[in-house]
Amino acid sequence: MATPAIDRQHVGGERDLASEPSRRRLVSYVLPVYNEADGIREFHSRLVAATRARPDLDFQFVYVNDGSRDGSLEILRELAASCEAVKVLDLSRNFGHQMAITAGLDSADGDAVIVMDTDLQDPPEVSLELISAWESGAQIVYAQRRTRKDTAVKRLTAHAYYRVLRRFADIDIPVDTGDFRLMDRTTTDLLRSHRERNRFVRGLVASLGFEQVAVPFNRDERVAGSTHYPLTKMLRLAADGVTSFSTVPLKLITRLGVATVVLALLGIVYALVIRLFLPEISVPGWTLLMIMVLFLGGVQMLSLGVIGSYVGRIYTEVQARPLYIVQEVVGRGHGGERAQE
Ligand code: UDP
Ligand code: MG
Repeated sequence: MATPAIDRQHVGGERDLASEPSRRRLVSYVLPVYNEADGIREFHSRLVAATRARPDLDFQFVYVNDGSRDGSLEILRELAASCEAVKVLDLSRNFGHQMAITAGLDSADGDAVIVMDTDLQDPPEVSLELISAWESGAQIVYAQRRTRKDTAVKRLTAHAYYRVLRRFADIDIPVDTGDFRLMDRTTTDLLRSHRERNRFVRGLVASLGFEQVAVPFNRDERVAGSTHYPLTKMLRLAADGVTSFSTVPLKLITRLGVATVVLALLGIVYALVIRLFLPEISVPGWTLLMIMVLFLGGVQMLSLGVIGSYVGRIYTEVQARPLYIVQEVVGRGHGGERAQE
């Protein structure tokens, strides 16, 4: 398929600020690519065609090649050569979807940044609706799947997962929402200040706060190839989601510890009763053995719980997230001159 001709008038990477009194706004797309050679050209031409509907905006397309092994990079190079709005980041190996997004966010320059998949499951036309919501004042706009055309297993597990996560996580993660979303400059920069390693980007965005607006859409089928989220990767992402935003698993250990100690005490009382009052069925040595096993088991479980609660604290400290985010300061208060500088 031929590379689409690009209208350079509005799809321009370079902005001529001097000649324009009111600066045109730039919208960046962050586009992770992993082995998408069969569909990426079609994706790009559809995206460019969609953005033509907004000649009043400038666009930047940041493709992040996440260690593809199928010639995706060569195609991306061609796209960059024929379209100056394209910027390609080539990662040295496959770092995974969430890291690819992070790399793209770090190098996107837009006043608003849109993250979307490059397999046409997130329709490029929907991104224009995200832009409209941003223009009406929203700082974070997420695209929420009304329907999705995946296999029954994927649909079922995804459905269950989002609901379990919502129950366990300390923050309100919107259900049926992937990484397809728009963030303005402020929230993008805030997200970039989160540098934790095992990242669950959609959870981090949810934890930023601000007014978050949902735009419903119908998720399409993949144009080419098959999912790069096999069960193992999906489970890892799911685990990252739960462990990044909740210490419920650690708390469960503590509860298990308390329950074990209570049961151990009952068991010890039982062993003693048999030893003292029913000597005829008591086996020599059994009482001491029971007491020791139950006592040690209980103490170990409880200790694990205590250690777990410290590990939980260390974990949240290490994540080094901002303590709080101030959305707006109203008024200056006395002596505010200094604070406003
Ligand atoms: N992707 C990536 N690195 C990976 C896996 C996937 O950059 O290790 C990209 C992929 O090219 C696509 C997006 O992430 O643009 C979503 O991946 P996929 O479509 O395989 O996931 P699914 O839609 O099945 O959840
Ligand atoms: Mg997909």
